[in-house]
Amino acid sequence: MSDWEEDWDNGDSKATSKPYNKRNNAKDNSISNRSDESGRHRSSENRAPIRYPQAGEKRSNGQRHKHSEKIEVPSDLVGMLIGRGGANIQRIQNDYNVRVDLDKESGTATINGNTEQNVKDAYNDIEHHLNNGPGSRYNSKDGSSGHQSNAIYNFQLKGRNNKPGDTDDIEMDPSGVIDWEALNKKAKKERAARWSKLPELRKDFYNEDPEVANLTPREVARLREENNNITVSRVFQQENVSENIPNPVWKFEQCFSAYPDLLEEIYKQDFRKPSPIQSQAWPILLKGEDMIGIAQTGTGKTLAFLLPAMIHTEYQLTPRSQRKGPNVLVLAPTRELALQIEKEVNKYSFRGMKAVCVYGGGNRREQISVVKGGVEIIICTPGRLNDLIEAEVIDVTSITYLILDEADRMLDMGFEPQIRKVLLDIRPDRQTVMTSATWPPGVRRLAQSYMSNPIQVCVGSLDLAATHTVKQVIEIMDDGDKFYKIREFVRNMGKDDKAIVFCGKKTRADDLSSDLTLEGYMCACIHGSREQSDREQAIADITSGHIKLLIATDVASRGLDIEDITHVINFDFPRNIEEYVHRVGRTGRAGRSGTSISFITREDWGVAKELISILEEADQEVPIDLRNMAERFKSMKDRRANESSKFNDRDGNSGSRGYRGGGGAGGRGRRDRY
Ligand code: AMP
Repeated sequence: MSDWEEDWDNGDSKATSKPYNKRNNAKDNSISNRSDESGRHRSSENRAPIRYPQAGEKRSNGQRHKHSEKIEVPSDLVGMLIGRGGANIQRIQNDYNVRVDLDKESGTATINGNTEQNVKDAYNDIEHHLNNGPGSRYNSKDGSSGHQSNAIYNFQLKGRNNKPGDTDDIEMDPSGVIDWEALNKKAKKERAARWSKLPELRKDFYNEDPEVANLTPREVARLREENNNITVSRVFQQENVSENIPNPVWKFEQCFSAYPDLLEEIYKQDFRKPSPIQSQAWPILLKGEDMIGIAQTGTGKTLAFLLPAMIHTEYQLTPRSQRKGPNVLVLAPTRELALQIEKEVNKYSFRGMKAVCVYGGGNRREQISVVKGGVEIIICTPGRLNDLIEAEVIDVTSITYLILDEADRMLDMGFEPQIRKVLLDIRPDRQTVMTSATWPPGVRRLAQSYMSNPIQVCVGSLDLAATHTVKQVIEIMDDGDKFYKIREFVRNMGKDDKAIVFCGKKTRADDLSSDLTLEGYMCACIHGSREQSDREQAIADITSGHIKLLIATDVASRGLDIEDITHVINFDFPRNIEEYVHRVGRTGRAGRSGTSISFITREDWGVAKELISILEEADQEVPIDLRNMAERFKSMKDRRANESSKFNDRDGNSGSRGYRGGGGAGGRGRRDRY
């Protein structure tokens, strides 16, 4: 569950009234309710003991186990034993067919299993983990202590990249103060030694077509402007240094004529020409430059980084058969996006290159077996990647082309530590691509730390363009009327209609889907707490037309690319205007027309102004009630600002009692709730 979905679930939301709620939504303690979209573990302090269900098993099954063993777990190592989103404990349960109950209060883990051997093996695994995991100071059964010193423990707690044993000879003074300078010097030396052993890397595969090379600066500017107003710059380069950014292309052949088999694959897709991001990204990436693409899903960004990745992989100096592991790593925030990328990769067969999608919630054993079988491209969510790196299934030192897809989203979801951890293990001279819908400070810092003089390419969203092919209808109503409205809509759906209904909260989505089902309308529902297999089935069912109605939350629907959606219904209005644009872009795809219908309530007034701008820009009808809402909101803001300045004048400080800042035009941040 994402942070914001959780906020809404905690009742910090406008959408709290559920007039048609017929079910008890009391939360159970199952692992899905403690995990987010990507299986992120949620704090479970004060819950003891924790019972971790096995894969496919619901919670308590009343089963009695014949063998049992207890192991002591120091409280500060409980999290490490559980692993991200319960990944480690689940792995132990799956691998040894045991059940592990953790009692955080007494600091014990009880292992139950049907054979003595299984329990013993699980015991040894846990003991090994506690002894050897990061920060371990655990004393095992035989009295020997974990091999890491306190110095290393502290070092790792500070989030530095370090391997056990790296700092064995670092002196600590008697008061326990670490000599950071010596430590950093040593780490730098060791890193240099580590990378020096790797094979030489080739990154430049670009032969600029004379037609492209001969463009005048004025023609280049015009091309960029016509291509959805692309802007390019070296974001971190000092002024007055030549930027040296390759010219954009406008034909596939200008980039890929040297690779006729790849060109054939592109022709099979029947695309007319490179999308704006592709027209600029391909020359940059084929030249071996690092790139930041400020672009959303639907802009063709996947293909923009994928085709250069394939060429990069194929034409390294070391033959593919002699390489030690995958070359391309794509990190994506959600399982849906990771699967979507895999689908896109699999459309292009190039020299037998294989890709695998690795994500929390998928079949771990199957994913491991594919990875071990040899793949060139790994697409994964950060949590599962770390899990597999720790289990030594994936070795990222062979990665030479790295993509951080939807970086802003990954940071929003709290993946920054995992990303930074992985990045430190990838050779620093790699080629790095980052995509992001926005450019907040967190993303900027990440790019500054881990990219080499990157070129930033900003592209106006094609989704935004899509809003021009979509009829946008606004319906203002009370929350209590929404269900009757949606029922009326479903009743009147034509035989070729397909709709996605967006809800703000998972419980809303669950309630709506069950109530529509009870009324006899077939639908499927996807959100962060649904089993991965159910989510995939729901997407397959709406894609095939088996069902016509998909109820979804934003997070679960990210990356959805279903061509023939005719309607998008905003049952709950999204928390920000970007999400609105993104949702609307789920229809009107691939040259088709579409309709979006948004149910707006009084509580949505904070977004009315931005919504009006979008509607006006796309030449859509703006209801007078929406304009009134925007006016009322503005008056309220002015009044509060006035009160606040009076308050400041009086107290001589800038206290901001009560009112929490305005929504901010175009901001991605959380919408104010009143
Ligand atoms: P993405 O932004 O990567 O999610 O891509 C969205 C959709 O655009 C996918 O279905 C792609 O197959 C499609 N696409 C990619 N490149 C092009 C292109 N040059 N012209 C038309 N569609 C494209």
